[in-house]
Amino acid sequence: MATERREDPTTDRRTEYDYTSDDVDRPALVADLERVVSGDVRFDSYSRELYATDASPYEVTPVGVVFPRSTGDVVGVMEYCAARGIPVLPRGGGTSLAGQSVNRAVVLDFTRYMNDVLEVDPNERTATVQPGTVLGTLDERLAPHDLKFAPDPAWGDKSTIGGAIGNNSTGAHSLQYGKTDVYLEECEVVLADGTVTRFGEVSVEELRTRADPNGDLEARIYAEVARILEEEAGTVAEAYPDLKRNVSGYNLDQLVAEAHGDLLPGGEQIDEAETVNLARLLAGSEGTLAIVTEAIVSLESVPETKAVALLCYADLHDAMEDVAPILAHDPAAVEVLDDVLIDLARGTSEFGPVTEMLPEGTNATLLVEFYAEEDEAGQKKVAGLLADRCPTAEPVAEPRDDFPHTDVDPLATEALEAYDEAERTQLWKLRKSGLPILLSRTTDEKHLAFIEDTAVPPESLPEFVERFEDILESYDTYASFYAHAGPGVLHIRPLVNVKSEVGLDQLHGIADEATDLVVELGGSVSGEHGDGRARTQWNEKLYGKQVWEIFRSLKTTFDPDWLLNPGQVVYPEGEPTDLRENLRFGPEYDFDTDFESVLNWENDNGVQGMVELCHGCGGCRGEQSTTGGVMCPTFRASREEITSTRGRVNALRNAMNGNLDSDDPFSDEFVEEVLGLCIGCKGCAIDCPSEVDMAKLKAEVTHEYHQRNGASLRDKFFANVETVSRLGSATAPLSNALESLPGGRWLLERTLGIAADRPLPTFRRKTFCDWFEARETPSNLTADRKAVVYPDTYTNYSHPKAGKAAVRVLESAGVEVAVPDRLGDTGRPAFSKGFLEYARETAKKNVAALTPWIEDGWDVVMIEPSDAVMVQTDYLDLLSNEAIEQLAANAYGVCEYLDRFRLDESIRFDVGDERLTYHGHCHQKATRKDHHAVGVLRRAGYAVDPLDSGCCGMAGSFGYEAEHASMSDAIAAILYEQVKASDGDQVVAPGASCRTQLEGRPGAERPPTPIELLAAALA
Ligand SMILES: Cc1cc2nc3c(=O)[nH]c(=O)nc-3n(C[C@H](O)[C@H](O)[C@H](O)COP(=O)(O)OP(=O)(O)OC[C@H]3O[C@@H](n4cnc5c(N)ncnc54)[C@H](O)[C@@H]3O)c2cc1C
Ligand code: SF4
Ligand code: SF4
Repeated sequence: MATERREDPTTDRRTEYDYTSDDVDRPALVADLERVVSGDVRFDSYSRELYATDASPYEVTPVGVVFPRSTGDVVGVMEYCAARGIPVLPRGGGTSLAGQSVNRAVVLDFTRYMNDVLEVDPNERTATVQPGTVLGTLDERLAPHDLKFAPDPAWGDKSTIGGAIGNNSTGAHSLQYGKTDVYLEECEVVLADGTVTRFGEVSVEELRTRADPNGDLEARIYAEVARILEEEAGTVAEAYPDLKRNVSGYNLDQLVAEAHGDLLPGGEQIDEAETVNLARLLAGSEGTLAIVTEAIVSLESVPETKAVALLCYADLHDAMEDVAPILAHDPAAVEVLDDVLIDLARGTSEFGPVTEMLPEGTNATLLVEFYAEEDEAGQKKVAGLLADRCPTAEPVAEPRDDFPHTDVDPLATEALEAYDEAERTQLWKLRKSGLPILLSRTTDEKHLAFIEDTAVPPESLPEFVERFEDILESYDTYASFYAHAGPGVLHIRPLVNVKSEVGLDQLHGIADEATDLVVELGGSVSGEHGDGRARTQWNEKLYGKQVWEIFRSLKTTFDPDWLLNPGQVVYPEGEPTDLRENLRFGPEYDFDTDFESVLNWENDNGVQGMVELCHGCGGCRGEQSTTGGVMCPTFRASREEITSTRGRVNALRNAMNGNLDSDDPFSDEFVEEVLGLCIGCKGCAIDCPSEVDMAKLKAEVTHEYHQRNGASLRDKFFANVETVSRLGSATAPLSNALESLPGGRWLLERTLGIAADRPLPTFRRKTFCDWFEARETPSNLTADRKAVVYPDTYTNYSHPKAGKAAVRVLESAGVEVAVPDRLGDTGRPAFSKGFLEYARETAKKNVAALTPWIEDGWDVVMIEPSDAVMVQTDYLDLLSNEAIEQLAANAYGVCEYLDRFRLDESIRFDVGDERLTYHGHCHQKATRKDHHAVGVLRRAGYAVDPLDSGCCGMAGSFGYEAEHASMSDAIAAILYEQVKASDGDQVVAPGASCRTQLEGRPGAERPPTPIELLAAALA
């Protein structure tokens, strides 16, 4: 399971990294904390900067970071800090959007050790979990019982139960399920003085019995809660808006409603009157009242079936008008997408095809999802909705006779229906297209989160949107409107440049006026993401002075010295939280790359644009089993923030803006701890919503490192692997025998740092080029395509079999094939190792050699995926001219070539009933070319199980490097688990590195490439 902690790669004696820097702040404090904590204590500069950001626009460097192993550790930290007046901040995945998970405090990161599902009770439908448990992991554990934790925040595969409690999180299906608070049965907590206690349901009577305003902290808390219920219930009930979703301020309306037997906020029914659940008071408290160390949560059944309708509108205002009538149909979700996002999605390769489903004239959509017991019931619900809201549509089913008639004029122009999972996923994909597009801007103007989750009653949405647009216009900016229209929560991220004073004024002015608007319309400034640094300042305006003072009183009772995440939700008299303070970027922000870049960064607004692109969402912290994709294998292997893309790019930004040591990012330590562990898989370039390209940044910075400090012998060796292989081939079999000389590998590890336990490639005396030259060209080549097969280093000198297979398959499709023998390598190893001038010279040479072929109508076909991607994309970063663009556009991976031109359709294959497990190469996945081989293999007759796998961990030379071998193994272990879970009879993988790694599985053979399998199956 994902909660299991794989062996830490640093336990290998050869590793030289420990995820930290050597300069430790406040060593005496560290020593003291280490005495009271069995977990890890990190106050080094890297760790502190890594925990200075979350998914918000804020940045606050913490005092230090502690990874507690137990409640006892939390008590130790809390008692120590309380005695010295040091603030403490509990933290989960750090995916908060309002800045509530950064503070000048000792950060307690629960995700490292306190991340277990302790117990699942399917009968009681409860789970007992530690706060660092990721929600996706919890759901994995619950799946066999057909149960789930119902609140479904969009980032639930990266965010934790502690964070869900802290922010009172919920997601697209809040109409059905409400927020986290109603699922909290009981919590173990550490209070501000270090007391451990449990909060759960108590009768109001018992609450009064346990209350003592002069007693210990716990008794004082009971007294304060009893006082609020007695003296302030009316004020609270009046001041809180009646919304399904409001997470601003403390959860007092829930408390009051429970005690008085009223309906819960948003209309949910109460089980028992005259009882309150103090655990639920912690929901949405953003770590400011107590630290949760364990939670018992109630669970819901996984719905049997889902049905989706996508209603299309001429404009956003029509869509907003339609939300309230749609709610009469009792949907589980109603999600909006506006014209700004639909237009942006149309222009992207990923979402463009999805938008093609939309009827012409669609400028806004509402996605409506229903849950049902069986398929037919779901279809009938959709039919009822369409009969009422889009009568021109012709649904697949008949509605029930009693479907709701709203008597409101229908506004939807057309509707799409989706019932099977693939269709539903397509429609949800369109809805979710917004964020990545908005967040990929590399300019100083960014779509910022600061009023991104306002909530209003759904019937006020049309007026709200219209008046919000006026506010934005008056500040000379714009935003898109998307997300949870059903409960009235819209995501709105205005385009603002906070590096300018004008931007700061916009930030404050827009937030101020937006608050006035939501107050007027009976809404809330936060319906989803919490107060944090962005919205705490508006709580007084939202709730009024009296409730604000209740907040202060409650906070002071729980936390007399205001040490728990101070400044969030409520602030003390005279110390206001201002949304313009502590921004990551501001007018004073300084950044200097301090070197001339070599690569082409034009589309990225320079190196700076790329380094500042990460918005901190934590998307690179998702596990393979829950998030899938490629990003980020090193985090998945180590679960260390510094090994995530976010960690790396944050460290790089801090190095370049002067927050770290002046030597960084070109110090040995920085290269070892931050850059060296990035395996250059390019996963982030595709899977990160902002498309942060860490592999490219690494190549650039490593190049500069070489300029300043020189390169190691091993790096030069790997960068020149073409020369090494040519020599190896020329002297084979002698060269191959060297490996088995006694002590040979030991010596190689000692001298060059090449891991002794890794099998080295075997060199062939007769190269692929030799073979091709010696053969006769068949005469029956009738296809209208001609292909130069590129003899890449590995294929040519070590594995001619794949090249031969490619030639045979292509010729079977009638393609004329040529293999020029003087091309050399593509420059991939030099590029990856940061020898960019050398890579550029190699690229130039290859462009010069291949251009005449291309001009003569030949295509270029590559065998090794990483070489293919080098030519197709990385060359464009090295060179800018027409010839390089022409080469990139005419270069294909071999299966891509077959698939793209359907060349395989003219070939007869004789395939048995063998089922294949396919592991694609990460560079192919990063360039969306992974599906080609699967398509061709399937058409040839194979049943294929394509793994949603990441990088294999070998990553060119990375797995051969002695100090990185254990990290490589840890990454490989993830792939091995996936292969084991697949029902394929045979594994197939196109990449040489991947096949070496897959061969390392116990008892496994080296997998073939897809092209070899296809050649073997030629009829
Ligand atoms: C792309 C994206 C999409 C998102 N979508 C949603 C969404 O659909 N719905 C939604 O609600 N949110 C959403 N969020 C916001 C965020 O992911 C959620 O609020 C999430 O639940 C936070 O969890 P976390 O583990 O990252 O918590 P963190 O950010 O680490 O912490 C959140 C708060 O909880 C407190 N906290 C953490 N652990 C504890 C503990 N043990 N005891 C007490 N307090 C604690 C922290 O101090 C902090 O104030 C989204 C964020 C992003 C970046
Ligand atoms: S690197 Fe990308 S996925 Fe990771 S935190 Fe930054 S923006 Fe999010
Ligand atoms: S290139 Fe790969 S290893 Fe490096 S940061 Fe990106 S996803 Fe992680």
